[in-house]
Amino acid sequence: MIIVMQAGAEPAQVERVVARLTDLGYQHHISQGVERTLIGAIGAPEGEKEALAEQLSLLAGVERVVPILRPFKLVSREHALEPTVVKIGHAAFGRGQISVISGPCAIESEKQLLESARAVKEAGAAVLRGGAYKPRTSPYAFQGLGQPGLEMLAAAREETGLPVLTEVTDARQIEGVIAVADAVQIGARNMQNYDLLREVGPIGKPVVLKRGFAATVQEWLRAAEYVASAGNLDVILCERGIRTFETETRFTLDLGGMAAAKLETHLPIIADPSHATGSHKLVPPMALAALAGGADGLMIEMHQHPDRALSDGPQSLTPKRLKTLMDQIRNLALALGLTLVGPEDA
Ligand code: PEP
Ligand code: MN
Repeated sequence: MIIVMQAGAEPAQVERVVARLTDLGYQHHISQGVERTLIGAIGAPEGEKEALAEQLSLLAGVERVVPILRPFKLVSREHALEPTVVKIGHAAFGRGQISVISGPCAIESEKQLLESARAVKEAGAAVLRGGAYKPRTSPYAFQGLGQPGLEMLAAAREETGLPVLTEVTDARQIEGVIAVADAVQIGARNMQNYDLLREVGPIGKPVVLKRGFAATVQEWLRAAEYVASAGNLDVILCERGIRTFETETRFTLDLGGMAAAKLETHLPIIADPSHATGSHKLVPPMALAALAGGADGLMIEMHQHPDRALSDGPQSLTPKRLKTLMDQIRNLALALGLTLVGPEDA
C-alpha cells in the first residue's frame, strides 16, 4: 500500500503516518520526492488493506492511499511456472494442446443426443457437450430435460467413449451431474454466483467457467479465483462474447479480452463463437480467429436439424458444417504449431 502525502505536507504529518503504521505493526519505506513524499507500507494482510487504506487516508497531510491489491493469486501467472494444461478425459487444453468441445445446446431426446455424439466424434471433436439444465432468458422457453437428460448423456458417453461436459445452474444439481459428467460448466449468467462457484471447488472434476456477458476480464479472473480457492485448479475459462452496442451479432466476441486474460492467468482459455455471434455463418471465421489469437480450444454448438432445435438453432452448425470447420481447424493448428487432440487420441 502506498500513502501519497499532499504537496507541502509537514514533516510532522509524515511522522504521524509513520508512527501509526509502526503501531499497527507494518514496516515502511519513505520516498522523498521534489514535491511530495510517498510512504510505502509493507506487510498489511490482504483482507485488511482496503479498510486500512480508508483509515490512513483520513490522517492530516495525506492526499490518497493506493492499496496494492492482488485480487487473484492462485490463478495468476506468478502462481505457476508454466501454463496449466486442463484435461477433460483425454481432451487437453493448454500449453500448445487444443481440443474442440461440441454438441447440441440442449439435450432433447436420446436419439438426438446419440446421433449428435456420433457426429461430434466423426468430425474430430474430443468432448461431447449437451445441456440438461438450461439457463433460459424466458421462463417459458425449454428449460432442459433435467435428470433424464443426464441419463441420455451417460448413454452417449458409454456408446462413443467421448468425455462429456454439461452445465449446472444450481448447487442442488451438482451431485447428479458429477455422477455422469467428466466436467462441469458454469454458464455466463452464473459467473458471479459466488456460492455456486464455491460449491464446484471440491468436486474433483474440471470446471468450464464462461465469462459473464457484462463481466470485465478482472471480474472473470476473480470468479476463477473463487473456484481455485475452494480447492479446484482445473478451471478452463471460456470467452463467449460480451454485450456491446453492436446488434449485428448476438454478443461481441472479445478476443482482445481473451488475449489480455491469457497474459494474467496460467489457466487455459477457450472461445465459444456460437453464443458470441448467434449465427452459424459467423461461427467458422470467429472459431479460426480465436485459435489464431491464442485460444486453447473451442466450444461449438451443433445440431442435426438446426431448424428444429429447441434452443440456439440459428447458431448451431449441422454435422456437415462442423466437419468442414474441423478440417480448417486441423490445418490452422498445423500452421500455428498446435496439437489438436481428437477422439482418436483416446
Ligand atoms: C450454453 O452454453 O448453452 C449457454 C447458455 O451459454 P452461456 O452461458 O455462455 O450463455
Ligand atoms: Mn446454447
